Amino acid sequence: MDYDAIVIGGGPAGLSAGIELARAKYRVLLLEKESFGGPVINIEWIIGYPRPGEKTAGAMLASDMVQQAAQSGVEMELAEVVEIERYSSCISVTCADGTAHTSSVVIQAAGLYSKKLGVPGEEDLQGKGMIHCAMCDAGLYRDHVVAVCGGGDAGLIEAMYLGRFASKVLVIEAQAEPTAKPVLQTRALADPKLVIRCNERPIEILGEQGVTALVIENSATGKREALEVYGVLVHVGYAPATGYLEGILALDDSGHIAVNEQFATDVPGIFAAGDIRGGSARNVAAAVADGKAAAMAARKTLESLQ
Ligand SMILES: Cc1cc2nc3c(=O)[nH]c(=O)nc-3n(C[C@H](O)[C@H](O)[C@H](O)COP(=O)(O)OP(=O)(O)OC[C@H]3O[C@@H](n4cnc5c(N)ncnc54)[C@H](O)[C@@H]3O)c2cc1C
Repeated sequence: MDYDAIVIGGGPAGLSAGIELARAKYRVLLLEKESFGGPVINIEWIIGYPRPGEKTAGAMLASDMVQQAAQSGVEMELAEVVEIERYSSCISVTCADGTAHTSSVVIQAAGLYSKKLGVPGEEDLQGKGMIHCAMCDAGLYRDHVVAVCGGGDAGLIEAMYLGRFASKVLVIEAQAEPTAKPVLQTRALADPKLVIRCNERPIEILGEQGVTALVIENSATGKREALEVYGVLVHVGYAPATGYLEGILALDDSGHIAVNEQFATDVPGIFAAGDIRGGSARNVAAAVADGKAAAMAARKTLESLQ
């Protein structure tokens, strides 16, 4: 066995699980496909996380967690997990580069991925005006008009951040009104840079060397309009990246991993924590708590093996 435990995902849930297991002196490998700390790194201020001070910067919180994991002895590797297999005596985790690691327990904490619009132009214009993260890329859109597709919490938060740099931010919402929390809607409506357009559906993104326009369609009239924009950010919801787990672990109707009250999946030795599990509260504090609780349950499994 290469490790006692393998944690998949380096966001708050995965880091918290890794810290708990490493502090108990288990050999822990944490695999993260993009950046240690997870998407929290790109959230300017984390709301609702109990911590001293008025506001919590996402980057600082993530960096503190990563540092603590490293100090606790969690081994961290940048790799995307593409396969999990359970054998009689161990669990094997395979990464995109073909490397495989084995362990007695696995904690799945791979969070959610941002859904795509699925319209023409979206793929071709990746890296050419399709914005992935307001905080990372907003400076590139200074004094330009940009569009944000999706009027949920994440859409409005990112639109307001872009509005500090862009000349105008068009928020395109397919429903009759934004779905964000009322407090965010109030802030967004008071922002002079934001224009919220409801009942409008993005149907194509135009441009060759870069984004030049977003074509939208009014759901009531069917009228189409090409909005001249320099960049497009998509925030139309999130889904668990559990496609490769179908047929291996039980998933609920929305594709989240089904767990019991001990965060155990239906496969012995595999646990799930954070946003990827069914019924998660989908916030940082809950993810941290999940990670710790899943790790405590995993410790019991490891103790029983000893
Ligand atoms: C724009 C935005 C604003 C938010 N604001 C707040 C807020 O103010 N307050 C709050 O409490 N919460 C907020 N949240 C929610 C919060 O970020 C999440 O609930 C929390 O990060 C979930 O933690 P997690 O560890 O379960 O998943 P994540 O933080 O998503 O981490 C999962 C990690 O797994 C990695 N991963 C995915 N697939 C694989 C794979 N196959 N192999 C290896 N690694 C993989 C991902 O790269 C990622 O780093 C916000 C979310 C967004 C998107």
